[in-house]
Parts: sequence; C-alpha cells; structure tokens
Amino acid sequence: MYFRKTLLLFIIATCLSKVSAQSLVYLRPDRVFDGEKNLEKYGVVIKGNKIEQVDSQANIEKSLPKDAKTIDLKNCTLLPGLIEGHTHLFLHPYNEVTWDDQVLKEPRSYRTARAVIHAEKTLKAGFTTARDLGTEGAEFDDVGLKKAIDDGVIIGPRLLIATKALIATGSYGPRTFSPDIKVPQGAEEADGIDDLIKKTRTQIGKGADLIKIYADYRWGLRGEAAPTFSLDEIKLIVATAQSAGRPTVAHASTVEGMRRAILGGVETIEHGDNGTPEIWKLMAEKNVYLCATLAAGDAVSQYKGWKKGIDEEPERIKKKRITFKQAMEAGVKICFGGDVGVFAHGDNARELEMMVEYGMTPTEALKSATSINADAFHVNNEVGRIKNGLLADILVVEGNPSQTITDIRKVKKVYKNGVLVE
Ligand SMILES: [Zn+2]
Repeated sequence: MYFRKTLLLFIIATCLSKVSAQSLVYLRPDRVFDGEKNLEKYGVVIKGNKIEQVDSQANIEKSLPKDAKTIDLKNCTLLPGLIEGHTHLFLHPYNEVTWDDQVLKEPRSYRTARAVIHAEKTLKAGFTTARDLGTEGAEFDDVGLKKAIDDGVIIGPRLLIATKALIATGSYGPRTFSPDIKVPQGAEEADGIDDLIKKTRTQIGKGADLIKIYADYRWGLRGEAAPTFSLDEIKLIVATAQSAGRPTVAHASTVEGMRRAILGGVETIEHGDNGTPEIWKLMAEKNVYLCATLAAGDAVSQYKGWKKGIDEEPERIKKKRITFKQAMEAGVKICFGGDVGVFAHGDNARELEMMVEYGMTPTEALKSATSINADAFHVNNEVGRIKNGLLADILVVEGNPSQTITDIRKVKKVYKNGVLVE
C-alpha cells in the first residue's frame, strides 16, 4: 500500500512537472522590438523553449488560457536575445594583463576559470548567443566551455566557436623575442596545400563551428600590417571548410588583406579599418559582412594613453569613423561585434553605443545585434528575431533602446531557451 501511494504521488508529480514545463508565459512589455522594427503594445507568449505567439496585446488576451502566467513589464522593451559577433572568452582586458602575457604566462586552467565567469557576464548582459573568434593560445578549450554551457554545468550564451584560428607561419604573435627561440603562438600556423587542408579539417573535427583566418597582421619587426595568406591559400581554406558546411571569416584591416579575403570567399571581415570605397563596393557586391569592432580600437587607443573626451582623437580613430561611414554608405551589411576581451566581458553594449556614436541610428545598431547577425551567422532558423517557432531567447530592458541606445544596459530579464536566467 505504501509503495502504491508513493508510486501514485510520483506519477502525479511527473505529470505536474510536465505541465509546468509546457505552461504558457505571457510577457507584456510596452513594446516589442522584433529584430527589425518596434511593435507598440505587443506581447509575446512563450511555451517551453519556443516563442508560441507574437501579437498585439489585445489579440493575445482574447485567447490566452486562464492558467497562463502573465508577467507585466511596464516601461519595458522586449527584444530578441542579443548576438555578440566577436568575442574572445579566453581573454581579459589588455590594460589588466598584456595580450602577450595572457598567452605566455597564464595557465590554461586559470584562463578557463576566467572564461567561465566571462560567459556568465555575457549572458547576464543580454547576449544569449556569441561567436567566439579564437582561444588565443588556449588550444581547443572553447570546445569544453561550449559543452559545459550546453550541458547546463555553467551558464553562458550558446556559442559558435572557431577554436584555434589559422595564421600563416611567422605572421602572428607573441613576437619580438629573440629569433633563436621558438615562442608558442596565439593561433595555429599553417601554410601550403596539404598543411592548410589538414589543419582546417583538424579544427573542424575537434569542434570548430567556423574557421577564422588572419588575412593580414602586423608581422615581423616593422610594426605595420601586411597581407599573410595568398589568395589561393584563402580559397583553399574556404573550400575545405565549406565542404564540411563551415563558413570562414577573416581578420583583415589592410586593403590587400581585405581584397584577398573577399575574393577568397570569406563571409565576414573582422575590423576592416583601412577599407577603401573600392573595397566596400566589392564587399557589398559579394555580400560579405563587416564586423567593425569599433569598441576594440577605442579601448586600445585609451590603453595607449589617449584621454577620450579630453585629448584630440588619434589618427586611427578619426580614420575609423570615416571608413565605417563609407562602408555604411556603400551598402555593406554591418555585423555587430566588439572584439570583447580587449575590453571587459559583460560590457558588450559598448559596441552598440559606438555604432551609434559613429553614425548609425539606434534601430540600425539593434538590427545588427539581432536579425543581421543571425542571418550572417546562419542561425536565423533559431534565434535573432521575435517570431513564432524560434527559440525563446529574449531580453527585456527598461526604457526604449531604439530611442536611447544606452537603455540596452538596463537589463530586467534574460531568457535563454525559454528559461529565465538568474
Ligand atoms: Zn578578435
């Protein structure tokens, strides 16, 4: 008898938990930014891990079942969970520890401990998806970090990872050591046909969702950026990755590095500081996205002593304002990604604020961080918009970030996969 009672209670409890897992949650903010536009007096109904309904509040309330849980979000805007386009969870700000010292002196266990905290901060700032563009010397540790998030061991954004990234021999860092010693590098060296195919495939095999290459870099001892891989090498990497369904993206900021990357078939250009009208035209034609990383250049300039708001803007910043504007005017699609890690994780909104400072409207910047990034990273069947059937990755902020971009920092609630992040 005792056994049967326990069993009965167990069955009831199981049924109840199933019901509650599938129960409806109705979010009722002032407005919904659906990834493209604002919808005033709209609401969103979540069922399980999916968005069940997006409609005017009047329509939702006509048919909402009685047992649905209503959450009133007065003075708030509901948006898709934001998508960080360029982060390095294994790095922390260079004014704390230089990049060289992070790569050469910090134990990987220490870097992972930091990455766990960085992932949590990213998610809690409203970024439910992030593209991590290289562990910078921490080997394949992003594979384990991603698994720990997916398994619910730790909390963080869903990750698209690059693992080690590819560099041409001699082109990356740390450098400026004696040429007589071999210094471990912040990414994986590879050259020529066999080696490039093998290392691209190895990175994919170990867990890379995408391949990241450095199409130019400040290599050697002269200090100026110069192209690295040949056009044929880039084409080979892209074809090898593509045949396994992985996109290739490129760090590039010189005209020739960008040109080779675009013609070689990469999908996004990271940084792009020295782009010219001719390069922007080519990018627009080939549908290559620009991830401008405005916040990284701004941070690095400040680390070098520039007092923002007091001193005159350094040449690098003046030029970046011009090239960013040229890219927009040429119709290049602009991704959102700040190169986080150069500056603090959790402060990802800094890039949004700078995109507005450099000439975008707040709505354009928000589109970049939601629908445009989702399209660019091939995840628009899951996230990036508030749309029926997509995953319930949702950010609620106080105020109206389409008017005042800094309101994006007033995070009230974050849902990832329909689960409230706490
Ligand atoms: Zn980066």
